Amino acid sequence: MKPAPFEYHAPTTVDEVTGLLASHGGEAKVLAGGQSLVPMLNLRLARFEALVDIGRVDALRTVARVNGHLRIGSMVRQCDVEESAEIGAAVPLLARATPHIGHFQIRSRGTVGGSIAHADPAAEYPAVALALDADLEIAGPSGTRAVTASTFFTGTWATVLEADEVLIAVRFPVWGEESGFAVDEVARRHGDFALAGTAVGIQLRAGVVVRAAIALFGLASTPVRAAAAEAALVGSAVAGLDLVGIGHAAVAGLDPPEDLHASSALRRRIGAATVTRALGRALEEAGVA
Ligand SMILES: Cc1cc2nc3c(=O)[nH]c(=O)nc-3n(C[C@H](O)[C@H](O)[C@H](O)COP(=O)(O)OP(=O)(O)OC[C@H]3O[C@@H](n4cnc5c(N)ncnc54)[C@H](O)[C@@H]3O)c2cc1C
Repeated sequence: MKPAPFEYHAPTTVDEVTGLLASHGGEAKVLAGGQSLVPMLNLRLARFEALVDIGRVDALRTVARVNGHLRIGSMVRQCDVEESAEIGAAVPLLARATPHIGHFQIRSRGTVGGSIAHADPAAEYPAVALALDADLEIAGPSGTRAVTASTFFTGTWATVLEADEVLIAVRFPVWGEESGFAVDEVARRHGDFALAGTAVGIQLRAGVVVRAAIALFGLASTPVRAAAAEAALVGSAVAGLDLVGIGHAAVAGLDPPEDLHASSALRRRIGAATVTRALGRALEEAGVA
């Protein structure tokens, strides 16, 4: 099928983007890599008066170290993340997540900002942003604002972004030494969205966990932090950890959505197993033999 007719705009600055969005009063949509938006338009699941293609805004493609963070422009593509030694070294969790996203054809167009702004509950990058307490830079007609990932996601495909706002960059904290990171997920076929999965960061000092970040995806309408499991880890000696028990603690109290692919109980079981496996790999990377 073809999309309903729309005006097409290709601005080159962020100000032009926000100006165009504002001038259409909620009837315009940002187009980034198009990997989620274009299928929705083609299937006529959505229609907009205008598309504002942000692919020619060079300022949205930059990557820079800023105050202990790696600032990644929203139009940096997922394949750029996969190939960048700088991003892989500074934010390993982002690099680990990337190969799980769809297929390479999708990653060659899909963007960091597009994935986060789209806010699919089973997507990897929103969980990475949440796990790492990333800050999201948003531009609108009256200037820019930053929000933390913990307040950005409000529901399935829903965020705090207003219709006249654009996500311009994501600032990921860079962790220090003795850190380990892992993403683990289960999908029915390679390239499918995960049934459930986990993004984990662990930092150790002298064999004790000093920092733990666990974000689950596919288990609720937004990615969620496993606060109880994190609390069980921090301050504990690695040698005595019960990773299976922590996996179960991570999903306790969640009531995952049920669909054709998995029951709620199966999603919870998968979630627990992915936490256990991801923690094992992250701890190993952080320095435990
Ligand atoms: C077959 C298939 C399998 C996939 N599998 C996965 C998967 O396993 N994991 C996964 O995470 N994703 C998956 N995806 C989605 C893919 O990652 C998309 O690239 C991503 O969701 C959207 O990124 P995009 O740059 O293509 O954004 P677009 O499709 O252009 O936009 C998506 C939405 O976000 C909004 N948007 C985009 N950028 C911005 C911005 N900077 N500011 C404000 N709003 C913005 C758009 O208006 C639109 O509503 C899959 C897609 C397909 C087609």
